[in-house]
Amino acid sequence: MKKKDNHKQQVCQSWDKLYTKFSQLNHIKDNIICPSCKSYNFIPSSIDLQDLNDIKFKCLDCDESFNFEELVKSIYKDEEYISITDGGKRIIWDCPECGTETFISTLGLCLACEKELQYTQCERCGENLSPEEQEYGGLCSYCNHQYEKVMDE
Ligand SMILES: [Zn+2]
Ligand SMILES: [Zn+2]
Ligand SMILES: [Zn+2]
Repeated sequence: MKKKDNHKQQVCQSWDKLYTKFSQLNHIKDNIICPSCKSYNFIPSSIDLQDLNDIKFKCLDCDESFNFEELVKSIYKDEEYISITDGGKRIIWDCPECGTETFISTLGLCLACEKELQYTQCERCGENLSPEEQEYGGLCSYCNHQYEKVMDE
């Protein structure tokens, strides 16, 4: 029992330090659990690093380690699955800045490096824009396609 209490304190302290350092983590604060066993005894094993992509996360219950990309993907994979089954788009994208798959289109933000997009929503339909749709100057790929069709006629 005593051991469990220690765990809890360790968990809170290390996360609090990380949240202060990387404020974008507040978006996922309530959803951080071990991707493998769903335990809350899940801690960043190094908090002095300047890049979230370098930090390893370790579960104190199942002993598995994950990197930040794996953690972000595990948090958003259900949401993305629902979006895609509904005929919608991916939510998790490769970040154009840091290169990891930690860019979340519904936030318009990379959770690893805080890169934000120039265009976050489609001017025409309001759809969240992905990093790959930036070249359309504020339209989503669908609306851009429609626009090009009109221009061709
Ligand atoms: Zn675990
Ligand atoms: Zn990034
Ligand atoms: Zn659109």
